[in-house]
Amino acid sequence: MGSRNEETREARHRRLAEEDHRHLWHPFTQMEEWLAEDPVVIDSAEGPYLVDTLGHRYLDGCSSLWCNVHGHRVPEIDRAVVEQLGKVAHTTLLGLASTASVECAEALARIAPPGLSRVFFSDSGSTAAEIALKMAYQHFQLGGQPERQEFLTIHGGYHGDTIGSVSLGGIDLFHRIFKPLLFPVRQAPQPYCYRCPLGRTWPSCEMACAGEVERAFEAAPGRIAALVIEPVMQGADGMIAQPPGYLRRMRELCDRHGALLVCDEVATGFGRTGTLFAVEQEGVRPDILTVAKGLTGGYLPLAATLVSEPVFESFLGPFGSKRTFFHGHTYTGNPLACAAAVASLRLLTEGGVLAAVPGKAALLARELAPLAAHPKVGEIRQRGLMVGIELVRDRRTKEEYPYEARAGHQVILEARRRGAILRPLGNVVVLMPPLAIGDDELARLARITRESIEAAAERLS
Ligand code: PLP
Repeated sequence: MGSRNEETREARHRRLAEEDHRHLWHPFTQMEEWLAEDPVVIDSAEGPYLVDTLGHRYLDGCSSLWCNVHGHRVPEIDRAVVEQLGKVAHTTLLGLASTASVECAEALARIAPPGLSRVFFSDSGSTAAEIALKMAYQHFQLGGQPERQEFLTIHGGYHGDTIGSVSLGGIDLFHRIFKPLLFPVRQAPQPYCYRCPLGRTWPSCEMACAGEVERAFEAAPGRIAALVIEPVMQGADGMIAQPPGYLRRMRELCDRHGALLVCDEVATGFGRTGTLFAVEQEGVRPDILTVAKGLTGGYLPLAATLVSEPVFESFLGPFGSKRTFFHGHTYTGNPLACAAAVASLRLLTEGGVLAAVPGKAALLARELAPLAAHPKVGEIRQRGLMVGIELVRDRRTKEEYPYEARAGHQVILEARRRGAILRPLGNVVVLMPPLAIGDDELARLARITRESIEAAAERLS
């Protein structure tokens, strides 16, 4: 038997596929189905392309789960990580500072919405949400309002998979089974205009859904610590775009009722919706902002919970006061990830990547426009380079495809054959390309998406 160096490409793929099937449990994946399929095994990447073990090249249409910003193997970020490796890979922030984490915190605070001057690092969007909710809670415990113990959230929200972040979430499919383990939250109806839960129509509804948030505040006077929201676009529930002015109303309601506004920009942050942060589009300043995904350009796991000065100050006191925020993870502020983040943020803001997003978003909208008339497309929702295309069985009645039909999955299988990796959310086809994708590649991604929807729709009917 030859050595692994002499293995053919096909044999290597088979070995890796078999070992994957033997050992790996994939996230958000029905493993019985997975074990019956030949997996795509990604081996390398280049710019907006992923390359598998068989040498197939695919456009990375989901930015490797919404985090890639500049494409893969970006020289400036590669260099920053290698340089950091030459100094130190990891050192703790418990009781010590480190060069890379200081520089990253400074870079983040410089570009953050005004007032968010304090940065608490962690490793994922879920931990950033856990930290936000614990900080909001402790802030009021320390600040003389101990009765503020409740959280207000929006139905269909997604803030991660740990128990605290699941408590804040509102996606029945993912979260229902864990209900007995969760702490109760107040949940307001979703601003989902295509399928309004209140049966109203925008704009004549005058944002009745925002009125429901107000009623939720009024039902618990002085007891809400924070409203937690994905600003502008709820991602994981199917790219649910909020009507203009909704987020501003949320800010006003928090101010009126003395609660903090926590904005989860894990999906929308770092240029995804066309501005550096989505909250900028409504001129809103959150009290707490969570980021992750695109922070390192999609290189390494790093998250941050950004906090206003008044929240930070409520934790200050002599050692004996025990006002400390007793929370931290082993890899909090990991220097390799921080070095990648600093390089990525520089490219985003100074390298012209952010400035090009509105033009690319307009190109994508033009290329997708023919789909709007497709009999199986209910709605196309887009904010910047964040797009959801909702498939429907019947456009007139908005009847959904049943869960078992896996309508979105059928589209991604078609897209894979045509050279693009997409990841659906139920019946919603998601497009989240790297922000730095070239115009030609973006147009090709849109064409593949159109053709894949057409082909899948035919097979489904
Ligand atoms: N918050 C939002 C808005 C998200 O979209 C996600 C992930 O998709 C998370 C939090 C959780 O992030 P992570 O998967 O890094 O824990």
